[in-house]
Amino acid sequence: MQAETTTMESAVQQAWKKRPLIISGPCSAETEEQVLETAQRLKATGKVDMLRAGIWKPRTRPGSFEGIGTKGLPWMQQAKKLTGLPITVEVATAKQVEDALHFDVDVLWIGARTTVNPFSVQEVADALRGVNVPVLIKNPINPDLELWIGAVERVAKAGIKQIGLIHRGFSSYGNSEYRNAPMWHLAIEMKRRNPDMMIINDPSHICGRRDILQDVAQKAIDLDYDGLIIESHIDPDKAWSDAKQQITPERLAEMLGNIIWRREDVASAEYHAALEKLRNQINHLDDELMQILSERMKVAEKIGQYKKENNITILQTNRWNEILETAFAKGEKLGLSKEFITKYFDAVHLESINHQTKVFNS
Ligand code: PEP
Ligand code: MN
Repeated sequence: MQAETTTMESAVQQAWKKRPLIISGPCSAETEEQVLETAQRLKATGKVDMLRAGIWKPRTRPGSFEGIGTKGLPWMQQAKKLTGLPITVEVATAKQVEDALHFDVDVLWIGARTTVNPFSVQEVADALRGVNVPVLIKNPINPDLELWIGAVERVAKAGIKQIGLIHRGFSSYGNSEYRNAPMWHLAIEMKRRNPDMMIINDPSHICGRRDILQDVAQKAIDLDYDGLIIESHIDPDKAWSDAKQQITPERLAEMLGNIIWRREDVASAEYHAALEKLRNQINHLDDELMQILSERMKVAEKIGQYKKENNITILQTNRWNEILETAFAKGEKLGLSKEFITKYFDAVHLESINHQTKVFNS
């Protein structure tokens, strides 16, 4: 028994260190047969390092399947025994932590709906005190980096040494392409602030549908994520939760096989020299852009002065629409997206208004 425990412990540690780390399994554990068959088919692909399943499901509205509960934990335990794959489940309360650990769950994860609530995160963190188990923390459902960081801090303060991040996208009203908008820049900023922490991507909950999973997974790998967590099911259309986004273990293997795995770095001196040259060009252009923007703001201040002297308001809506329309038309020819132009002009506009306000108040 001791030997088995030790081997399993090192299997978890090996998986935790493996790059890319691939976690898969059903959104929810439904029946013993489903859990065991999924686990075995995933194992057979040779591409999966850890098995996931939701045991307690935080559903947006009552009445839908809210998870099989504690009775699913022995199924996961059995799946681990059959395949040798470490197992991970979502926990949101102290009782769930206790039950999961009782059934030898190797890695716990905190879901997006829990990360938003400091009371719940604290409850989970307190239950983890004195326990040596790796924890993955999903981003909160709303795009608030501080909440995500707060959750990491609470778990770290409880003494958990191995913490990883899962980027699963952010809910946004009226977004149609994704179930949860990826907002890649937020995950990149989170990584910048926690450079030593692993971050994996959850294309399933970002996409909410199968047809764009491959693209999102590839994008994450291109951005140098440490791995992926993707939902899989033996009969996806009949899944009791998240049916639209689940894929079979075999389809998962195909998808992973299609990914172009890039390296962050190569040793070649030639490559580094060429990259250095291009980066210098970019730095130089960025410098020039800053100079030009500063000039632009000086002109804005002159306009502000002129408006002030003539008792005219800072903002003239028509003028602003005219600037945007012209920019869209020109930008399109220059290969700049409408989204970029909107963001760029929003920022420039705000800065202009601030400069003009300064003049008005002087
Ligand atoms: C899940 O992984 O099944 C889940 C509930 O995800 P999230 O917390 O990202 O919504
Ligand atoms: Mn799910």
